[in-house]
Amino acid sequence: MNILLIGPQGSGKGTLAKKINRDFGLVPISTGDLFRELIAKKEKLGLEAKEYMDKGLLVPLELTLKILKARLSQPDCKRGVMFDGFPRSIEQAEALKEITNVDWVIKIDLPYEECINRMLSRRVCKGCGAIYSTTTYSSDTCEKCGGKLVQRDDDKLDAIKTRLEVYDKQTTPLIDFYADRLFVISSQDDPEDTYKPVKDFLKGKMK
Ligand code: ADP
Ligand code: ZN
Repeated sequence: MNILLIGPQGSGKGTLAKKINRDFGLVPISTGDLFRELIAKKEKLGLEAKEYMDKGLLVPLELTLKILKARLSQPDCKRGVMFDGFPRSIEQAEALKEITNVDWVIKIDLPYEECINRMLSRRVCKGCGAIYSTTTYSSDTCEKCGGKLVQRDDDKLDAIKTRLEVYDKQTTPLIDFYADRLFVISSQDDPEDTYKPVKDFLKGKMK
């Protein structure tokens, strides 16, 4: 079974993906994370993508499909995957149709102002990738690995606004595209509360 997570930036897709992976074994595939891994390794594809990412714009389709297909060809994906951050447009959804099937789409809602606040307060550990919020954690070192907490390059107000605009214009049309397999929830302050209905839903589907 393959599922897809859709939601605006800050809605907690990544956190939700971790919980679903823990309980149901679906392999999380985040195109944003894949790009950031390539950037960290200073690979050409990553550096090409970074120019778009820093502005908050979508990376061109050809480049995105290249890294996505490479990831999907790895053996762990056979068990079923959970797409986070792909597709982000009808064009990408059409392309995905040619590659694999999507059984269920989980859409997470969060009001615009909340999205902005969550991204502005987000900090990421350089060592282990753990995510923190300055609203609940005031230290600048990771409590898990001691790594330095930094702001993502695109978690700056200009890029945040562009990303939310791109989401609104290009990604929300996917809701109609996947209307026949959609499960909608709203993002809560406590990630466990956000996860609960999703867990019940997937339990019913993964017999
Ligand atoms: P966010 O959803 O908060 O924008 P991601 O980590 O998912 O964060 O993505 C970061 C950036 O990576 C995006 O702004 C975009 O530039 C690029 N990106 C990620 N996924 C895609 C995609 N499916 N298509 C095009 N660009 C993408
Ligand atoms: Zn850490």
